[in-house]
Amino acid sequence: MFVQKKVDRGQVGDIHFINGKVQFQKIRLNVYIYCYDGLLLDTGSSSLKEICRPFFHEQSFDQVVISHIHEDHTGNAGYIQQNFNVPIYLSEKSMRLAHEGGKYPLYRHFFWGKREPFHPLPMPEKFSSRQYDWLAIETPGHAYDHCAFLNESTGQLFTGDLYVQTKSKVTLREEHTPSTIRSLQKVLQYDFDEVFCQHAGYLPNGREHLEAKLDYLQNLTYRVERLYQEGYSNEHITKTLFPKKYPIMTLSLGEWDALHIVQSIIAELKVKEVVHHK
Ligand SMILES: [Zn+2]
Repeated sequence: MFVQKKVDRGQVGDIHFINGKVQFQKIRLNVYIYCYDGLLLDTGSSSLKEICRPFFHEQSFDQVVISHIHEDHTGNAGYIQQNFNVPIYLSEKSMRLAHEGGKYPLYRHFFWGKREPFHPLPMPEKFSSRQYDWLAIETPGHAYDHCAFLNESTGQLFTGDLYVQTKSKVTLREEHTPSTIRSLQKVLQYDFDEVFCQHAGYLPNGREHLEAKLDYLQNLTYRVERLYQEGYSNEHITKTLFPKKYPIMTLSLGEWDALHIVQSIIAELKVKEVVHHK
């Protein structure tokens, strides 16, 4: 089995980034790392270490913030900890997991490699880089420990995996779509336009992208709830709303599937019904 790896480098103003790409057959995955004003945002995957390490050594940074524990964001945190004398911040919710080597299904090792253990500090709510003031905004949904980072001085938002794409058709089993909706609503209360996504890259009109995703997910929720109230099963609703199959669904043995979107929406609806009937 042969995984191809590539890298793009770029710059938006003072923000330097690399975009590492892995491809196997029809499945292409990628991940961004940003460095801005002495702040490194995420660390990429260990499968891309040949690409990421030179970037770390070229850049000047004195602290690292990580959006969430997934191995394509934390894969080189161990290396940074061993080679750079800088603090690494991660949500308190997943700090203990970081102390262990990554445990996740084989196909993820195949694409992203093995995450080495590292020892982060708990993410502060507010922090400063060399010139700017930042907010870490808790934005669960894609992952329970997810944070987005707002440069309050410039109105630029670094969204980790909160956005990724507007019309998501599959999610990870652990994802919770109603929480993603609340997290989008939460960040949209802040003042920003530019968005830096860890998979879609630089989005100059990022606010519009986030609004469009919120709109799509709210619409989807409405359609799922209607079909559920008409008595259809989760599987039937999934087939109706998401007829297309994607290679990642098979490769991941169902860890990525549209069914997880539907199930999380219906689980939330059942909670609401229970509260309503009390
Ligand atoms: Zn992720």
